[in-house]
Amino acid sequence: MSVKFKKLALIGIGLIGSSIALAARRQGLVDHIAISTRKPETLAEAEALQLGDSYTLDPAEAVRDADLVILCTPVGAYKSVMEAIAPSLAPGAILSDVGSVKEHVVKVLQPLLPEGVQLIPGHPIAGTEHSGPSAGFPELFAGRWCVLTPGPEVDPAAVEKLSAFWRAMGSQVECMDAAHHDMVLAITSHVPHLIAYNIVGTVADLEADTKSEVIKFSASGFRDFTRIAASDPVMWRDVFLTNRDGVLEMLGRFLEDLAVLQRAVRTGDGPALEAMFTRTRAIRRSIISAGQETAAPDFGRPHEAPPAAEGDEKA
Ligand code: NAP
Repeated sequence: MSVKFKKLALIGIGLIGSSIALAARRQGLVDHIAISTRKPETLAEAEALQLGDSYTLDPAEAVRDADLVILCTPVGAYKSVMEAIAPSLAPGAILSDVGSVKEHVVKVLQPLLPEGVQLIPGHPIAGTEHSGPSAGFPELFAGRWCVLTPGPEVDPAAVEKLSAFWRAMGSQVECMDAAHHDMVLAITSHVPHLIAYNIVGTVADLEADTKSEVIKFSASGFRDFTRIAASDPVMWRDVFLTNRDGVLEMLGRFLEDLAVLQRAVRTGDGPALEAMFTRTRAIRRSIISAGQETAAPDFGRPHEAPPAAEGDEKA
């Protein structure tokens, strides 16, 4: 089966949209890339970066005659985007997205879906804390999973064609039910982000209240939380507004387990703490062997030698 699409329309051209544009172009997966976004300055930036072949502030114009449309805006914008594009979607086109939640997406898009358009929601499990058209790079999806959540009514040939598109950009593809996706992502991504936002907020308040030096001494575990907590505020606001059930379920389990650890610390239960930390170390090793993380120390950060002090012997 040919992976090639005649016209790809990307609605939203931030980190994920621009990475798709660059990867699809590099792999020769599309003849034409139409780009649409909300702000004229973002569109101008995308054009200056030569991410597409045509540029418009009108999403309906971008999707006209497109055989693949991918929504790459924050999930909260989907309803208004769909209202604008629905009458212009071509029969037979695949409508997909990259949003980090999936049940809500189906709820918003399905009722407005014109007959003959194949809705295949998607979520590339790949990203960075950077945003905007200049943040993208074509290798973003290499070796990363992309989850697709087509309903039972979707043509299997369309699912296979979209899967082949993602595989050609380097992803491994798995199909699953939208509700299952939301539950899994709640614990692997959404709750970890909530914890990072919370701990960085707590530290910032502490620093302000006590004039202490927490930021100065942040090169320990805290620094790694700050990377996650620097993620786009609008995107993450929308994730927590639209995956409330999944997040609350997993947050409940997390808090129960935290209470167990709290008790172990309070009672000085060394064996319980050590057993827990041994189990979690093994989990990190299995993520590394699955190729989803680097084994390099300190997340692969370059470590430069400190400048030689005056009078030091040169090696
Ligand atoms: P981003 O870099 O902030 O880009 C978002 C894009 O959407 C921008 O081009 C923005 O353009 C546009 N946009 C925002 N509101 C809009 C609206 N109301 N109408 C039309 N365009 C609008 O975000 P991103 O990281 O690429 O994330 C995009 C989607 O990917 C989100 O749904 C997110 O859940 C999902 N995702 C993100 C990651 C990640 O790590 N970042 C990973 C996987 C999936 P303007 O400047 O014109 O507003």
